[in-house]
Amino acid sequence: MKQQMNLPADFITRTQPLLKEEWDSFLTALDGDIPVSIRINRNKSANLPATKIPWCDTGYYLDKRPRFTFDPLFHAGCYYVQDASSMFVERAIRQYVKGNVRVLDLCAAPGGKSTLIAGLLGKDSLLVSNEVIRSRANILAANLTKWGDPGVVITNNDPVNLGKLTGFFDIVLVDAPCSGEGMFRKDEGAISEWSVHNVKLCKERQRRILADVWPALKPGGVLMYSTCTYNTEENEENVQWIRNELGAEMLPVDTNAEWMTSPSFVEDTVAYRFFPHKIKGEGFFLSVLRKNGSEADFTAPKKARDSKNKKNKADLPPAYKDYISGKEDFTFYSKGEFRFAFPARLHDDLLLLKSHLNIVSEGICLGEFKGKDFVPNQSLALSNNLNRNVFETCEADWKTAVAYLRKESLVLPGQPKGYVLLTYKNMPLGFVKNIGARANNLYPQEWRIRSENIPGEAVNVIG
Ligand code: SAM
Repeated sequence: MKQQMNLPADFITRTQPLLKEEWDSFLTALDGDIPVSIRINRNKSANLPATKIPWCDTGYYLDKRPRFTFDPLFHAGCYYVQDASSMFVERAIRQYVKGNVRVLDLCAAPGGKSTLIAGLLGKDSLLVSNEVIRSRANILAANLTKWGDPGVVITNNDPVNLGKLTGFFDIVLVDAPCSGEGMFRKDEGAISEWSVHNVKLCKERQRRILADVWPALKPGGVLMYSTCTYNTEENEENVQWIRNELGAEMLPVDTNAEWMTSPSFVEDTVAYRFFPHKIKGEGFFLSVLRKNGSEADFTAPKKARDSKNKKNKADLPPAYKDYISGKEDFTFYSKGEFRFAFPARLHDDLLLLKSHLNIVSEGICLGEFKGKDFVPNQSLALSNNLNRNVFETCEADWKTAVAYLRKESLVLPGQPKGYVLLTYKNMPLGFVKNIGARANNLYPQEWRIRSENIPGEAVNVIG
């Protein structure tokens, strides 16, 4: 039997009056089962689980938690494991993001909301996904690489650096670091770290982050502010502060009574709250605001000079451009021995970002010249724009796929020598270099499955 959760006394004193008669059902839900949900990558997956999450077109509940690590399609970026409540951001994106836009996800690791947004944006939209903590920025880059959208740049910067891109972004999402009250059921650490003092520190930090990034949102642009906590200091009070101090109006998000979202706890504030006793998901808060002013106030940041890049543009043999489907829409360029492709219409934006920010990854890395060899990159293997026709392909069974993801060397009898794309259920996992007696495994060392505890039978979450 599950043990009753030991909630901090101060949390009870502060939260019970907010939830009033709902308090007992809230406590019961905290001791209940944790729902498991995933979001499908519509560019990669056709097989869908049965139970839909109503507010997200690609969100699904699973009956139980499988060992995702041992499902090769998880590593292929066919789906992302995400709490259902967070997927509500989709409603705001669908309602307020029109046409081609520049979007900043400021606090983005590990990438739940960035992968959601990337899948919803138009082809010529730019997503800058930022994470201030370097190790977490690498995880973010890995998750977005797996997701496979080309117009994405991952940066590792303090919000203040992004704020210097005056008026650059149409949409900014601040999914703020918070006191995590909505994660108590999932993460015991959130309970032990919680204190009234920490709530106050979080609220102050959130205001600093918001003020620092605010100049980067263009006048008339949309801010989405979210947390996974319940208290009003980090939520409604901050939203009121944004409206009054930074200058914005609150916007409604279309919702449906059946979804059982809760409204703001504070009068005169428009917000959407998720509670585990009302929906199958964890605690979540979202508010959407439009920055005051019109585009007329906007001063575009200076364009970066392209001299270095022009020099590097021509040296990719045309055959390598065929690695990309829709190559006419891409700019090809080099960085050292590496070769990249980035959506041509967004290339000036990329140059501007490069002159201001610390870039962790960008667009599609095609590969690297090593002597006469051009070694194709993992980013290419998992890209939605990979042109599979130019590569030899080898379909792996589950055991071989797991061995590949553990970075073991493989033997692939009957396969041609050279670079071969390994697939599982027809989805690319990555490249090997087949030298005959064995195939060298090119899977990124830092992504490999480390667990030795391999299940006896195949794990297939989506068919
Ligand atoms: N949006 C992510 C997702 O959906 O997967 C979750 C983001 S998590 C709630 C908040 C993030 O903010 C963490 O990755 C954390 O490292 C980052 N963070 C912590 N302090 C920060 C700061 N001072 N400025 C910006 N981001 C910060």
